[in-house]
Amino acid sequence: MALSTNETLQLFKDTGAYLRGHFRLTSGLHSPEYLQCALVLQHPDLAARLGRALAECFEDYGEIGLVAAPAIGGLIIGHEVARHFGCRFIFAERDPNAGMVFRRGFTVNPGERALVIEDVVTTGGSSREVADTLRAAGAEVVAAGSIIDRSGGKVDLGIPRVALATLQVITYPPDSCPLCKQGLPVVKPGSRPPGA
Ligand code: ZN
Repeated sequence: MALSTNETLQLFKDTGAYLRGHFRLTSGLHSPEYLQCALVLQHPDLAARLGRALAECFEDYGEIGLVAAPAIGGLIIGHEVARHFGCRFIFAERDPNAGMVFRRGFTVNPGERALVIEDVVTTGGSSREVADTLRAAGAEVVAAGSIIDRSGGKVDLGIPRVALATLQVITYPPDSCPLCKQGLPVVKPGSRPPGA
């Protein structure tokens, strides 16, 4: 059961995961909107639905032996995509000195056909690092996918890439942000409890 961009965004709106306000993104830019994937994925039935829809995007890619994701954002959706393929799911963790690494005894078989899955692609940095880590471990990285692509489709990982919803997020440089000019306080999404 495929999900269109509008159907995907509706799931965010239905669960309060589509936030409106004044946000400082990781890039430093300001934005009037933010998609908080964790608020959708806290519902296991919706996580399963998104995972199935994302997995179905890769049906023409042949056998998939492994799904890998960057922690923490990719954990739930990667797990759900792997469930669809009946394959293993592993995750990479950021090491301050070594970039994205597989710990916890995770191994990759030589030539194993792997997907990289994330919740949100903004610059593609995390997916790119996980793909590199997979290749270094001997996997064949077949493609990458995410629930949301905030890059407007611009991110190029050098492999096929899909997203359930591709968005051109409205952003402003802080010095010309109309929300700042209105005096609205800016918040960094995800870093504060509700109402704080
Ligand atoms: Zn602003």
